[in-house]
Amino acid sequence: MRRVIKAGHVIAFQNGGHRHLRNGVVVCEDDRIAHVGHGFEGEADEIVEAPGKVLTPGLINTHVHLSESPLDKSFVEDRGPRQFYLSGLFEFLTARNISITDAMRRDCIAYSIPELIRTGTTTVMEIGTRGHDVMELAGRAGLRAYIAQSYRSGRWFTDDGRTVKYEWQEDDGAAALEAAVKFVRDHDGAMNGRIRGYLSPSQVDTCSEALLRRTRAIADEMRVPLALHTSQSVPEFLEMTRRHGCTPIEWLRSIGFLGPDVILGHAIMPGGSSWTNYHADDIGILADTATNVAHAVWVFARRGIAMESFARYLERGVNMTMATDTCPQSMIEALRWTAVVSKIVDRRTEIATAADVFNAATLGGAKALGRDDLGRIAPGAKADMLLWHGQSLFMTPLRDPVRNIVYSAQSEDLDASMVDGEWIMRDGVVPGQDLPALAAAVQRAAETMWAGTPNGDWNKRTIDQLSPESFAEWRAL
Ligand SMILES: [Zn+2]
Repeated sequence: MRRVIKAGHVIAFQNGGHRHLRNGVVVCEDDRIAHVGHGFEGEADEIVEAPGKVLTPGLINTHVHLSESPLDKSFVEDRGPRQFYLSGLFEFLTARNISITDAMRRDCIAYSIPELIRTGTTTVMEIGTRGHDVMELAGRAGLRAYIAQSYRSGRWFTDDGRTVKYEWQEDDGAAALEAAVKFVRDHDGAMNGRIRGYLSPSQVDTCSEALLRRTRAIADEMRVPLALHTSQSVPEFLEMTRRHGCTPIEWLRSIGFLGPDVILGHAIMPGGSSWTNYHADDIGILADTATNVAHAVWVFARRGIAMESFARYLERGVNMTMATDTCPQSMIEALRWTAVVSKIVDRRTEIATAADVFNAATLGGAKALGRDDLGRIAPGAKADMLLWHGQSLFMTPLRDPVRNIVYSAQSEDLDASMVDGEWIMRDGVVPGQDLPALAAAVQRAAETMWAGTPNGDWNKRTIDQLSPESFAEWRAL
């Protein structure tokens, strides 16, 4: 199958970076890009004439939880308990997760797939417990998915709303690790390589040294990426300094965990930041060990937490990648908020540019995955691409397509998406998705979850006590 796309603007890869190719032609042969340039003489099975459109690489979303994230909506926003330094991990997550059944998780995954596709994700890195559902549903929709079945040595909880406590499992997470490894062995490379497996021990404070060392050894042997939540809250940071007398990132370095195949989510509260007020050069360690960061700006920014700063990590040489983590699961929003929040934190306009965040969402993600055939439009690369409207209400006037995408585009400006040389969305429509049915299922799941918060909350609070609505209910007088 040979497809030829002629676009008014192509963000094409040349000499190690993205370039703006005007009136470009991209030729795909099966799942790969075969040719990029100004012209092409040859037969084709399909020719797309898109003189008013913008063709870019697809976006690599390096940290998501598809089976839970939609349920954050109408719940966690505007809420960040001060005793946990604004983090929702210790109360809201527990109150939410207690009522989520496997069927509800599947509904959330099914709903998330079109949401991701319509907002620019072509490669997604899932962390969760429902790998088979993700594989089936993402696979059917044509997404490229890296899937990790998460595991850990124990869990955190609070029984007083002030302190974080830990409960440890007898087997130190060994059975779940075994299942995670089996998932990778059974499914890595499925669906023409669109499905890949990787390993994700859950959180730095819930995994023992032994479990992380075992994980590191298995990843070395299997050559799969690793992901770990690290430096994502002040309570976690303080717990790790209490346990080890050093920062979480210093500790991970000391046990040999860090490296170019590791993606830390979120490393937003490292030693050296004002959040921890703890003298250390954690950003330098990330750079020196070539460890990658999955930056999910929104899940923090909505609570008033900002990385200090995206631009400073980049400048120090950390490979930054982009992620949505929570809802909305929009890479367009992730690009925009990352650029804007970093500018605010540093009080500088000419940093964290559209180019910086676009690079992170494409080449940065590809580097973290060890893939030089993703995140770029170049001969030999996988044909994972996005076609954007260039003459729409939000995209006009158009001189610099990437700046328009980062600062102005809406999801409706994404016209088409291709993964592995196949269209997975055209004319803004993701085929095979019954959106009203998907939304109804997630609404039902959320209502069940809302009703169940007293069962998961340490203080048995209802949803309205935990998270009062923006406005009180209107009542007839
Ligand atoms: Zn996460």
